[in-house]
Amino acid sequence: MKSMIAAVVGVNWGDEGKGRMVDLLCADYDIVARYQGGNNAGHTVVNDMGKFALNLIPCGIFRAGVMNVLGTGMVIDLEHLWSEIEALRARGVAVTRENLKISEKAVICLPYHRTLDELEEDRLGDGKQGSTRRGIAPAYSDKYHRKALRVGDALRPDTLRGKLEPVVGFKNLLLSSYGAYYVSAGECASWLEYYGERLAPFADNTEEYLEKAAACGKNIMLEAQLGTLRDIDFGIYPYTTSSTTLAAFGPIGAGIPGRRLDRVIGVIKAYSSSVGAGPFVAEWSGSEADAFREISGEYGAATGRPRRVGPFDCVASRFGVRMQGADTLALTKFDVLSYMEKIPVCVAYDIGGERVTEFPTGDDLEAAKPIYEYLPGFKTDISGCRDAAQLPKEALNYIRFIESAVGARIQYVSVGPGRGDYIEMG
Ligand code: GDP
Repeated sequence: MKSMIAAVVGVNWGDEGKGRMVDLLCADYDIVARYQGGNNAGHTVVNDMGKFALNLIPCGIFRAGVMNVLGTGMVIDLEHLWSEIEALRARGVAVTRENLKISEKAVICLPYHRTLDELEEDRLGDGKQGSTRRGIAPAYSDKYHRKALRVGDALRPDTLRGKLEPVVGFKNLLLSSYGAYYVSAGECASWLEYYGERLAPFADNTEEYLEKAAACGKNIMLEAQLGTLRDIDFGIYPYTTSSTTLAAFGPIGAGIPGRRLDRVIGVIKAYSSSVGAGPFVAEWSGSEADAFREISGEYGAATGRPRRVGPFDCVASRFGVRMQGADTLALTKFDVLSYMEKIPVCVAYDIGGERVTEFPTGDDLEAAKPIYEYLPGFKTDISGCRDAAQLPKEALNYIRFIESAVGARIQYVSVGPGRGDYIEMG
């Protein structure tokens, strides 16, 4: 039997509801693997076990029989991971070596990475980049500088200190340049040993595991964090995350580099939201934004920060779909638009008097102004709809409009946060 390898990715700025879609769709998969990022963003899942915000653990954790993998492309704060495991267990969710594996090659995000993130964000002051201050950028920097420790290192106390000494020496050069900060190798070793011991049962050669699973026909779902516009290479640099959010990186980051994706499910939100600084062309402000934020509940799952909100952006979303290579879309938070009389959508940008429909970069993006069109609102609560035939014609019209604007079919329409709150389009 042929294995199905699918990626569930964010088309926009993140927070599209990927976790919610993974929780739903992984019923047909044997394995869910995260392939990038750390605990700097959260996936919210609402199902019959309750409401959960996961930062590191894949959203397949609630399905019996699904193995969850923290892939090689991630950076993992061991302390945070351990607290996430304990919090899930405390709420009755089984987390064992039968349903969780951690790549021995994943990079560790240490407390000094958090400190460096804080120090740099504070140094930038008003010009801050919008970091979640969880140490992700410093940890990825260390990975590419080859100054990182990996999960496997924390499991081997006999050689750990020897690896730590030069790394900590280097870190102290940087820490001291911010002021009187100093970190000791002994302190780091204790932290690593403490969490290493607890997490050791989950650590594995996950690429060998995944390759074997694919070879014997297991279905693998790759779960992304954040969205296209936060991709380190193709996103709104430098207001990006520090990893590759694109589906194409999924097999590499998860640990099955030789495999091709059979399916890319792009999760796309019915309006726009963005956390942190940087250009965000189609944005509501003032009381309009406040009212919409309340209705939509747009506050960060990892940080509680209020998210910036705005109308659906066809220019950014078309780019997002294309860069992800999404062949199927899941439109989320559609119910949030229920109350609107007419629904604005940003169909193009005005840059210096020119109408632009290709997503620009750099200063052009900074200068872009939104050009809106208004679609008729559906003015009725659609959260109870479970079939396309139950949707008002204005809602179907909105769906068709988005499909044609971004160039891909919408297969799933999510009308609520719960697992069953969705419509599968014919
Ligand atoms: P992710 O990081 O892409 O998984 O997204 P987040 O979890 O950060 O944000 C999505 C939020 O929207 C979560 O609070 C979800 O419970 C919620 N959500 C997801 N889909 C829907 C939907 O269709 N309608 C409503 N009202 N909420 C949704």
